[in-house]
Amino acid sequence: MDFRHLIDGQWLDSLDGQRIEVLDPCTARPFATLARGGAKEVDLAVRAARRALEGPWGRMTATERGRILQRLAQLIVARGDELAALEARDTGKPMSVARADAAAVARYFEFYGGAADKVHGQTIPYLNGYDVRVVRIPHGVTAHIIPWNYPAQMMGRTLAPALAMGNAAVVKPSEDACLSALKLGELAMEAGLPPGALNIVTGFGAEAGAALTGHPGINFATFTGSPEVGIQVQQSTARHQVPCVLELGGKSPQIVFDDADLDKAVPIIVKAIAQNAGQTCSAGSRLLVQRGIYERCVQAIAARFAALRVGTPEMDLDCGPLINARQRARVRAFIDESRQQGVPVLAEGALAPGLDGQGFFVAPVLFGPVPREHRLACQEVFGPVLSVLPFEDEDDAVRLANATDYGLVAGVWTENGSRQSRMAARLDSGQVFINCYGAGGGVELPFGGVKRSGYGREKGFVALEEMSTTKTIVQHHA
Ligand code: NAD
Repeated sequence: MDFRHLIDGQWLDSLDGQRIEVLDPCTARPFATLARGGAKEVDLAVRAARRALEGPWGRMTATERGRILQRLAQLIVARGDELAALEARDTGKPMSVARADAAAVARYFEFYGGAADKVHGQTIPYLNGYDVRVVRIPHGVTAHIIPWNYPAQMMGRTLAPALAMGNAAVVKPSEDACLSALKLGELAMEAGLPPGALNIVTGFGAEAGAALTGHPGINFATFTGSPEVGIQVQQSTARHQVPCVLELGGKSPQIVFDDADLDKAVPIIVKAIAQNAGQTCSAGSRLLVQRGIYERCVQAIAARFAALRVGTPEMDLDCGPLINARQRARVRAFIDESRQQGVPVLAEGALAPGLDGQGFFVAPVLFGPVPREHRLACQEVFGPVLSVLPFEDEDDAVRLANATDYGLVAGVWTENGSRQSRMAARLDSGQVFINCYGAGGGVELPFGGVKRSGYGREKGFVALEEMSTTKTIVQHHA
């Protein structure tokens, strides 16, 4: 399997023919290659996108754009198994998770396809003899830097609203997992998207990614990934006054009060960290538990944690492997150092038989009580590691929940309605879930962070605003 860039509706190799090996995370062995793009391929893609804006794509009505996106949604539903199989191979995630991801991607194109012609402007009362209208216009060429954890979903999340608003896109998926993103490109062409409206350049971040975010021909950039690269993206887009939306991860708290319904909470809390082996920006990676329920809650969580099983996509267990050797080394360092420092291990999951020493698998670990200043309590691990911290009362819970640099998602578990409202108001976070958890679904729900989790919003109608700007037209008719 040798994959190419999608530029101007054509599948192209890099000009110098260079390739990147794609490793299977379950075996660490190569199974495919990608074209290794750089500045030249990015330049071709940006120019193709610009031409698309000046051609049939730029002249399409919102309804026509919406129909193409909805056709794409239908194709994704019809070929969801193909998309899921590719993503599972590329990332190692369990097949049922990959299938759910494919369904979520379809939903993005369905939702934004339907919304494309429902974005209306405004008229503004002004001086006598004047008509004022405010219309929404696309940014132009949008750059999309996509991570490896949910390649197809993340691409759908930013691409669908960008295309709905009439932008032309250049996508740089992750070198670690992009096969499902390329498949989406193929399906988009089949759905009738004109050449150049969507271009995909594969390659390394420092080469293709940096060339894209620093290209003077882009008008907007969206990035999901690490805070460090988020800063680099801001620096390179700032050179050309290009706005961006940044989604930079989190250390999201799940807050359990004494009166919580544990039967309901416990499975959801464990799933919120085990899902995708903890490689989820909105993973519920800190469990804050009130003293009165601490022992009972931790026992129930530990029992489930000990039962977590890690395996290949076909085994379809709770978790797959981590994405690459670097992530495995990083997560193992968190686990090993914390153990050596004496942070108690409450429970551990296990690899399926025969997987020891193979691929990038890591067994889930439950730590607790974790000291409040420990890095397990404040840094993003991005692996199957849950840190438990006890708290005293509501004020203490808020202090602890807000005590990290991040602010992406928070979960609150309590039966007390007033407390639910107070907590929702006081938590520094882009989303708050009460007696539930999960940003994975919910295409309709505005999503994004505060503090170092980034800025700008994706999902929901607000994404259509992010992916466009306004033009104010003042007409004198006296
Ligand atoms: P990363 O930020 O390096 O990569 C994300 C994307 O950015 C990839 O497509 C990559 O090619 C691209 N990129 C890298 N350098 C770039 C540059 N200079 N300019 C433009 N694009 C560039 O993330 P990573 O190294 O794959 O993972 C490291 C950490 O990032 C993880 O441990 C995790 O904490 C975090 N992360 C978060 C998310 C999330 O959903 N918020 C996703 C992936 C990774």
